[in-house]
Amino acid sequence: MAFEELLEDPVIQKYLNELVGPKGMPVAAAPPDGEVTDEELAERLGLELNDVRRALFILYENDLASYRRVRDEDSGWLTYLWTFEYEHIPGNLHEEMERLLEALEERREYELNNEFYLCPECSIRFEFGEAMDLGFTCPECGSQLEAMSNDELIGAVDERIGELRSELGLAT
Ligand SMILES: [Zn+2]
Repeated sequence: MAFEELLEDPVIQKYLNELVGPKGMPVAAAPPDGEVTDEELAERLGLELNDVRRALFILYENDLASYRRVRDEDSGWLTYLWTFEYEHIPGNLHEEMERLLEALEERREYELNNEFYLCPECSIRFEFGEAMDLGFTCPECGSQLEAMSNDELIGAVDERIGELRSELGLAT
């Protein structure tokens, strides 16, 4: 099965687990070949039908599954035939990484453009303006706020940005 290789990738496992949650993971981790109904999946995997449907819907919302409706000639009931579209996983992951990179770059700007003060007792961090408004006194415990370096944090953000950029094949 073509999806098996994808599912061995721990990054993809983590991505799917974050999408569907632990209850939906048996569904997400066992994409069938071809079309399948939610009832078939529930029976095959020994799961509650609602959990299967919930997982399928999340996959559908994320472009990882599609369905078509078929009316049963005898009963008149609508059946949903699901197809897993895991070929979209790499593209989705790429977009996620791009979003994360953008957020980290914004965070970096924010950290670089602000000065911070810290309460040594509560470890609450304040922006310079806030700290000034508070008279450099912690509103929780009354301790004197201390200027705080965020170099270490910026270093960690930089490192993560570098990793993401190289994973995305961008210049670092
Ligand atoms: Zn405090």
